[in-house]
Amino acid sequence: MAAFSSLTDRLSNAFKNLRSKGKLSEADIDGTIREIRRALLDADVALDVVRSFTARIRERALGTEVSEALNPAQQVVKIVNEELTDVLGRGVDRPLNFAKNPPTIIMLAGLQGAGKTTLAGKLGYWLKDTGHTPLLVAADLQRPNAVTQLQVVGERAGVPVYAPEKGVQSDGGDAVSAPGETSGDPVKVARDGVALARQKLYDVVIIDTAGRLGVDEVLMKQARDIRDAVQPNEILFVIDAMIGQDAVKTAKAFDEGVDFTGVVLSKLDGDARGGAALSVASVTGKPILFASTGEGLKDFEVFHPDRMASRILD
Ligand code: GDP
Repeated sequence: MAAFSSLTDRLSNAFKNLRSKGKLSEADIDGTIREIRRALLDADVALDVVRSFTARIRERALGTEVSEALNPAQQVVKIVNEELTDVLGRGVDRPLNFAKNPPTIIMLAGLQGAGKTTLAGKLGYWLKDTGHTPLLVAADLQRPNAVTQLQVVGERAGVPVYAPEKGVQSDGGDAVSAPGETSGDPVKVARDGVALARQKLYDVVIIDTAGRLGVDEVLMKQARDIRDAVQPNEILFVIDAMIGQDAVKTAKAFDEGVDFTGVVLSKLDGDARGGAALSVASVTGKPILFASTGEGLKDFEVFHPDRMASRILD
């Protein structure tokens, strides 16, 4: 994974020195932990997260029993793998929460440019591919072209889009009609989109919402109003893995602002340090459900903390 390639190299180097050791002294373990700490900080993982992560590794590494099956270096790698899985998932690896009575309502939230609109298309495509009948709803009325962009994305994915203009939607598959007129009010658009899904039996509604360049209260209130109006089954907070140390601040603001239910890491294909993304689950206690790894419709995967930890340590 490009965003973690430097971290992967650094961690692998940190373990290298342990390989020749028959038995690990406290100094060996401390030396390795220092390297792990530096690698994580350089990758932009938040300081608090690094501190507790390395403290747990140290405690466990010092307390490990002599194992017949694993040499000391392998034992440390195993501990780091387990702790990294925990950081990435807080022990949670859960699927998307589908409603017992469709439609399942998924709302997307995040900063402008985080990758929400792109994700709406990917999620729609993936859902369609797995037998669902999704509808995308264009409730981002802030950014010029956001509605058109979602329509283009929907068309590419073959997923219908409910858009506010004149109540007309682009037709990614079968044609659908709007339940009455819509206005420029994103709450009404979201509500009408859900009503349309009920009427036309779309089983998942994905609502794209507005994002600003920075966290602001007007944006949060709008997102909360949409949330309160449609009561989503999932509120997915989309975060650009390249955002750096701002990730923690942004994630906390959205957590307090809309109390999201899950995280989507986007742009994990980027070259910059993606470590900040590692802090998000830990800081908010919310699970990462998906990862976005490119601009294409299929550059998308269900997130599993244990598999991601293994890939980072690979
Ligand atoms: P929004 O403002 O949150 O809706 O963000 P967009 O979906 O418009 O994405 C902003 C930019 O990031 C666009 O140019 C996308 O093509 C790009 N983008 C979105 N997701 C990814 C990703 O996973 N990888 C890469 N490399 N680019 C992405």
